[in-house]
Amino acid sequence: MNRPAGAPGRVKEISSAANPIVKQIRLLEKKRHREETNSFLAEGMKLIIDAIDNGWRLKTLIHAASARDNEAVTKLAARAVALGADVIIVPERVLGQITRRDNPQMVAGVLERRFADPARLSPGPDDVWIALDRVRDPGNLGTIIRTADAGGASGVILVGETTDPFSTETVRATMGSIFAVPLARMDTDRFAGFAGRWPGQIVGTHLEGSVDYRVPDYEKGPILLLMGNEQAGLPGDLAAMCTTLVRIPQSGRADSLNLAVATALCLYEARRHAFPISDGA
Ligand code: SAM
Repeated sequence: MNRPAGAPGRVKEISSAANPIVKQIRLLEKKRHREETNSFLAEGMKLIIDAIDNGWRLKTLIHAASARDNEAVTKLAARAVALGADVIIVPERVLGQITRRDNPQMVAGVLERRFADPARLSPGPDDVWIALDRVRDPGNLGTIIRTADAGGASGVILVGETTDPFSTETVRATMGSIFAVPLARMDTDRFAGFAGRWPGQIVGTHLEGSVDYRVPDYEKGPILLLMGNEQAGLPGDLAAMCTTLVRIPQSGRADSLNLAVATALCLYEARRHAFPISDGA
């Protein structure tokens, strides 16, 4: 459904999952297709509205035919058309096939992917950025992006070969925060250059860290919080880039904390001064 830039979107009713447009959308399940088309799928009203409100480009809105009389869906469809997105109306069964859910949301959308340009990242003195080395688990990545949003991190940097932040599972787990948190990606060499120019502290998290994670003076920013891979932890070359290696104390039998949990603890500690306890809280 290509048309001139700036033109309003078109509305089309489709009844079969064999329709080529639906087939193309279903292919977004595959990482390669997401990369080739620079697109991804997001489900649910809240996510689509969050995306549009944050200036992300909606390419296609898909909604269930049964939601035709739903006022919120109608309003969203009109907004989508005005923004130049196509709207396709499908039976709930087809929406379920697109989202691979038995009880699909009434609405899904195809959006343009977006990464921050690493060359343009310029951390301010109060910033906390989170860098994730080769994060593997889509749920962990989604949870970390959501936590980064809630905890006030300035952005998330994906280092090396990572799980795709635009997979349906990760986008779901972000609960919309993917549209609010800048996301950059770098290979290890580029990250080494970036870390070398970092104007503040680089706090690496490591099971062998010699410093308790509550000890660094996080008010001396900007802070780059470096988290290790789920299986291998932080490798020696990345650990060597850190100004401090911190450890979160543990008791009990667990070897380590889950990556997303460790990130949350460290981020909230690093941003503790940004969340003063208010009267009555
Ligand atoms: N087997 C891995 C190892 O040896 O590091 C465990 C990795 S852990 C599941 C994933 C990441 O979470 C770690 O690389 C580190 O960044 C962070 N992490 C988890 N528990 C931690 C702890 N107690 N102290 C510091 N960082 C921790």
